[in-house]
Amino acid sequence: MELIDSFDRKIEYVRLSVTDRCNLRCFYCLPRGKRSFQPREDCLSYEEIERLIAAFAELGVSRVRLTGGEPLLRKDLPVLIRKLDRIPGITDLSLSTNAALLKDTAVSLRDAGVRRINVSLDTLSPGKFTRITGGQLGPVLDGLMAAKAAGLSPIKLNVLALRGINDDEFEDIALFCLEHGFTLRFIETMPVGSGGRKAAEHYLDLREVEDLLAARFDLVSSDMTGGGPARYVRVRDSNLHIGFITPISRHFCANCNRVRLSVDGTLYPCLGQEHHHPLRQLLREGISDATLKNIIVETIQRKPQKHEFREKPWQVIRFMSATGG
Ligand code: SAM
Repeated sequence: MELIDSFDRKIEYVRLSVTDRCNLRCFYCLPRGKRSFQPREDCLSYEEIERLIAAFAELGVSRVRLTGGEPLLRKDLPVLIRKLDRIPGITDLSLSTNAALLKDTAVSLRDAGVRRINVSLDTLSPGKFTRITGGQLGPVLDGLMAAKAAGLSPIKLNVLALRGINDDEFEDIALFCLEHGFTLRFIETMPVGSGGRKAAEHYLDLREVEDLLAARFDLVSSDMTGGGPARYVRVRDSNLHIGFITPISRHFCANCNRVRLSVDGTLYPCLGQEHHHPLRQLLREGISDATLKNIIVETIQRKPQKHEFREKPWQVIRFMSATGG
């Protein structure tokens, strides 16, 4: 079976938020003062997640990314990973993390079935890291090195390009990735939640970032696709691939292949719109597999054609950490 939406897009990828809590407070994501999170009883249990992902897999989804919040804060995450890794049809299980807790978890994550990870890191300056995130850089670098030592591959470093904040560091970050064999990806800020809207004043069009890097490195085209929205180039005579994810300057909605499941079991067919369908209560009321799959198919039929981050930047009020970034 295949999940095809009304714009003929094939949905094969679920991003799953396993917690809306985070150990960092990146100013563009989660406001510093935020204290209220989903009560634990409203978060999907591992059994509920397993059932939902199995339903998606039967509908043709093959890729799942665990995200959040910070997924490594969820207790016994390898237990969930093992369950998901066993689901027939799920061939790609990955994780987005800030890496602060990765030092002690990289090996168990790998053993449970994670092959590759994305690490969000916007700066290599300890002071700047604290200003952006409220946390400490040291554990993040330790976590990255532990992931590398554990053989997780590829490791992709996701850098939010922030004018006036980290735009003096892109070369250094590229050299860091070159040294360690990491793939580097730049992302444009999106007006998601109040934090995302505050970050708009630091928005940087990635065409500028590419020009900046092209002045320093010999960039050639790359055949790397990554299965997502990034467009890649490569530094000549090296293995350094640099990706550009441009939701604002050159959006990729026409090729969107993903949906998001929030920590409370709400299905969001588009990050940039408020359309959603709550599934948790239905699971708890004993919905049949057939009805569950029908609801998923119907919700995906209503997947909006595109986000409206430019036209209606005020529109998405939920936090990135709840929907699953
Ligand atoms: N804690 C994990 C991490 O750090 O990767 C996963 C969750 S985090 C919300 C996932 C990604 O969302 C990060 O790469 C972060 O940079 C990105 N993100 C958060 N707010 C954003 C915004 N307003 N615009 C663009 N990306 C954002």
